[in-house]
Amino acid sequence: MTTHERPLDSVLETVGETPLVRIHDAPEDVPVYAKLESFNPGASVKDRIGVYMLERLLERGDLEPGGTVIEPTAGNTGIGLAIAAGQLGLNAVFVVPEKFSVEKQQLMAALGAEVINTPTEDGMGGAISRAHDLAEEFDDAVVPQQFSNPLNADAHYETTAPEVYEALEGEVGAIVVGCGTAGTLVGMARYAFEREPATYVAAVEPEGSLFGEFLGEDCEEGEYKIEGIGTHEPSTNDLFEPELVDDVYAIGDRETHKELTRLAREEGHLVASSAAAASVAAKRVARRIDAGELAVPHETVVTVFPDSSERYLSKGIYRSFEEWTG
Ligand code: PMP
Repeated sequence: MTTHERPLDSVLETVGETPLVRIHDAPEDVPVYAKLESFNPGASVKDRIGVYMLERLLERGDLEPGGTVIEPTAGNTGIGLAIAAGQLGLNAVFVVPEKFSVEKQQLMAALGAEVINTPTEDGMGGAISRAHDLAEEFDDAVVPQQFSNPLNADAHYETTAPEVYEALEGEVGAIVVGCGTAGTLVGMARYAFEREPATYVAAVEPEGSLFGEFLGEDCEEGEYKIEGIGTHEPSTNDLFEPELVDDVYAIGDRETHKELTRLAREEGHLVASSAAAASVAAKRVARRIDAGELAVPHETVVTVFPDSSERYLSKGIYRSFEEWTG
């Protein structure tokens, strides 16, 4: 199944076909498997949408050869797009609010992208409007806009989901995935329903995030430390499809921190907070299946670990909970 056993011509060929590994702190009879996305060349799940979106935009003629991609992004998407843009002969410009991780901004620049900072107080909204203003100034620029571009979810429908189904020979009972743009969740859920409409699908968000409102839940808005998933403005998300989702699990910072520490020490996974939150939720779903509370077509749970903890060491991810959140 993997292409990694033979010599390859380009780093873009190493995107995807990541390992699926069993998580052991779960019921014996309901295995939980995690897709390890830090095995991608830019070390996150977003490498998939970087190469997929840019190749499709070029094919469609929406992007000219040698053209420019401009994206407002706080991190992993910029790195994924920068790798793809560099190898496909495109220019990349990222608009990043100042407060976001310096490591990620350095990686984007190292990959040849231009990074433009916007004031922290203007938030992601400020970065989005600056990106669109910039696009007006170029005559060959495209803003892929991961929060509203269906190609984001298509990348996971075409790659992430089929890889999981191949590895498990179709025996997937539940899909439990964190939501930032919701591209990963929606792409995988669409694929799952085509294969088996009774598949249980759960979205994962931090406590304090508002994705639950899409399912009519009363969410209490609050701050959270978990990075990469969650929303304070559900109305800015065009990809989340409530009809594909059975439940939303809101996971707290404390439980997440405990799990990311445990995953490293007990299972050797150097994964970050969104992966740990997904792990907590996936294990909860497995326990519910084990207890007979959820009817599923197969007693198997799949989740996604989006990136690695190394990208967050400077943020104190492995320090005490108080230091991490302080
Ligand atoms: N975890 C991390 C670390 C991320 O960067 C992202 C992307 N924002 C996600 C999870 C969520 O993925 P998606 O945007 O596909 O919902």
